[in-house]
Amino acid sequence: MQDPITRLIHHPYVAPSGFEAPQPGVFKASTVFFPSVAAMRSREWKDKSAYTYGLHGTPTTYALEERLCTLEGGLQCLLAPSGLAAVALVALSLLKAGEEVLIPDNAYGPNKTLVEGELKDWGITHQYYDPMNPQDLEARISQHTRLVWVEAAGSVTLEFPDLVALVRACKRKSVVVALDNTWGAGLAFKPFDLLPDAEPGWGVDISAHALTKYPSGGGDVLMGSVITRDAALHLRLKLTHMRLGLGVGANDAEAVLRGLPSMALRYAAHDAAARALARWCQSQPEFAQVLHPALDSSPGHAHWQALCKNDAGGAAGLFSVVLDSRFNQTQVDAFCDALRLFRLGYSWGGPISLVVPYALESMRTAWPAHIAKGTIVRFSVGLEAVEDLQADLAQALQSLR
Ligand SMILES: *Cc1c(COP(=O)(O)O)cnc(C)c1O
Repeated sequence: MQDPITRLIHHPYVAPSGFEAPQPGVFKASTVFFPSVAAMRSREWKDKSAYTYGLHGTPTTYALEERLCTLEGGLQCLLAPSGLAAVALVALSLLKAGEEVLIPDNAYGPNKTLVEGELKDWGITHQYYDPMNPQDLEARISQHTRLVWVEAAGSVTLEFPDLVALVRACKRKSVVVALDNTWGAGLAFKPFDLLPDAEPGWGVDISAHALTKYPSGGGDVLMGSVITRDAALHLRLKLTHMRLGLGVGANDAEAVLRGLPSMALRYAAHDAAARALARWCQSQPEFAQVLHPALDSSPGHAHWQALCKNDAGGAAGLFSVVLDSRFNQTQVDAFCDALRLFRLGYSWGGPISLVVPYALESMRTAWPAHIAKGTIVRFSVGLEAVEDLQADLAQALQSLR
């Protein structure tokens, strides 16, 4: 008789199959067993037909990938340990020395830091283009351009570009176009089907998404996805993904799987509250400008309207205000410090409202002509009652009066 510890480690009991419950199980593994050496040698990890190693996928990560494809309208998905890792994976997979990436001037800040840091050191060049001017993008595409990033709405300033025109410019020049789809989240518009009536199935090549935000919904998980509709492009990304060892934890994957069913309802609630507060802010004299794509005074409003026809839930939960230049940084900081329900913190998509003051002059190549001069404060609206959030903004404004 073997030792009980040996017997419990090699226990023969297998639970009956056929277990069904609302959520898929959490399968945790680095090691995955093979029944024979022949199976070990022949098993293919690239096509998800079986399992080889935890890093290459488990039933939990496969299930999450398939659901994210359904959300965004893609066919293949890779998971990365953060939204930024997803963005970096796209760049590292598609660019090599002597090649160039084009990025909108209002891109997610750390994407710009990556191109100015490691990519530059590795001999990969970049240019920033004006996202509100598709001709500017097209003029910058050269024989060296291998990747163009697009983002809608823009980071912090929330301008909404003519996404269709930007994508068209890339397609005309046969350059891969990748969307950072964190704001749209697969709900505001369909990244792989931007012209559903005129040209079904026409859209971006890659959608990268910080699942950290709305899919997770809790402010407690970091994860990213890279979704495609082209098997060859996916395989290229997948090989880089494997070489870089970008695995995600099963418990984190489970947290995102739990968030997905309620995501559309949460997105609509964040959206409705943000619109109500943005409109209220327009009537406050301290704010020189309120930036929210659903406001007709906001840059790119017509492009937002054309793409996000869904009036009930197509604008996420973010808006920014420009505090008029008569207020100095100390006064703007005091306004942010005076807020009680809006907590100071990065990221968004969770239940708690957040606020961050930004120094736009250090984030853009030039101050955008369509943004009033002053200091930008960005709000991410959580799931608290709108009246309470409005009262919080009103009491904090007292610190400026
Ligand atoms: C948050 C965010 C990311 C990065 O996501 P992390 O999970 O925080 O790394 C990328 N793009 C956009 C637009 C984001 O808002």
